[in-house]
Amino acid sequence: MSHPVAPSLPNVFLAGASGSGGVSHPERRVSNLNPRYTFENFIVGENNELARAACFAVSQSPGTLYNPLFIYGVVGVGKTHLIQAIGNEVIKNAPEKTVRYTTSEQFTNELIDSLKNQSMEAFKTAYREIDVLLIDDVQFLSGREKTQQEFFHVFNNLYQANKQIVITSDRTPKAIPTLEDRLKSRFEGGMIADVSRPGLETRVAILRLKLLEKGNVLADDCVRFIAENITNNARELEGALNRVLASAEFQKVHPTVPYVEKVLGNIITANKKSVTLESIARASAEFYNVPEEALQKKGRKKEIAFARQVAMYLVRTELDISLSAIGKFFGGRDHTTVLHAVDRVQKDMEKDGRFKEDMVSLRERLYRE
Ligand code: ADP
Ligand code: MG
Repeated sequence: MSHPVAPSLPNVFLAGASGSGGVSHPERRVSNLNPRYTFENFIVGENNELARAACFAVSQSPGTLYNPLFIYGVVGVGKTHLIQAIGNEVIKNAPEKTVRYTTSEQFTNELIDSLKNQSMEAFKTAYREIDVLLIDDVQFLSGREKTQQEFFHVFNNLYQANKQIVITSDRTPKAIPTLEDRLKSRFEGGMIADVSRPGLETRVAILRLKLLEKGNVLADDCVRFIAENITNNARELEGALNRVLASAEFQKVHPTVPYVEKVLGNIITANKKSVTLESIARASAEFYNVPEEALQKKGRKKEIAFARQVAMYLVRTELDISLSAIGKFFGGRDHTTVLHAVDRVQKDMEKDGRFKEDMVSLRERLYRE
């Protein structure tokens, strides 16, 4: 934590940084990163391994590999964590580098302020001096013409100077409706990686890590219970865990599964609504355009067998249901058939980027209202 502070930091970097008010630590103001977000405390799962690998690679040699790097995924899956981990890692390895984390909202506000205070030159210079620019939630840039223009200039300047740019968004560049075409194509010209919702094992691992960080303990069956029932994203997972721990501490009890169930009551029902064996079967059948009932029958027609394997895989990763129960549901198959299906889908996802994208959007559909 002892990287030098740049002596003449332009005002624009101090304005609106980290937001806690009062005098914050000068180091923090320079990099304005949250030191809590590192690669060491980021759990790798199949939902994020590609994005994590790309982020880590970029942190090891900024500006040379994937530029820009574009990370997208729904809320709460770890995008901010990853993008900030890049910054923290860069500064750890090369304290002289200027890393700037900003959100598109913050960028817009700074821009407006600079226009108002006639300090656009300082604004531009400040951004030109950055080595690694991390822009979070870029979807909020959409529709703001002046901001997009300015952003495009900043982007080009850095890009041409081989400076690293990393962007996150809740959707792909293509899917940001009013983003200027030239920005879209710039974003698409680099590397795009997705982060999807964590599967069960990853959720368990995230909970264990959070417990370790907090120095708390919770029985394994309680951890599993939370992971099985809070399926949406890492943020809700952490929230649920905190609620259980706080409540147990307040009431001075050792949590048991029924206790956890009681504490998380409403959250669990809200979560439960969404994903079941049936809803997964329906979504997979719809996605691959095969009759839903066929998945639960014996038929071996190729398209149907494929959709069924996908459904089995999703059930296995999203719900904690035994292999034999899954087999039984999908036309009375035995557990080795299910195991084979899960394995095959996993391998195909590793080999085939398009298929992996399909799986991501299929998984998203499961949770969409
Ligand atoms: P997003 O920016 O995608 O909305 P965040 O990065 O804010 O999500 O993540 C929400 C919370 O979940 C953060 O506290 C983050 O540390 C935690 N989190 C998300 N994914 C992981 C992971 N794979 N390992 C550890 N913590 C995670
Ligand atoms: Mg975020």
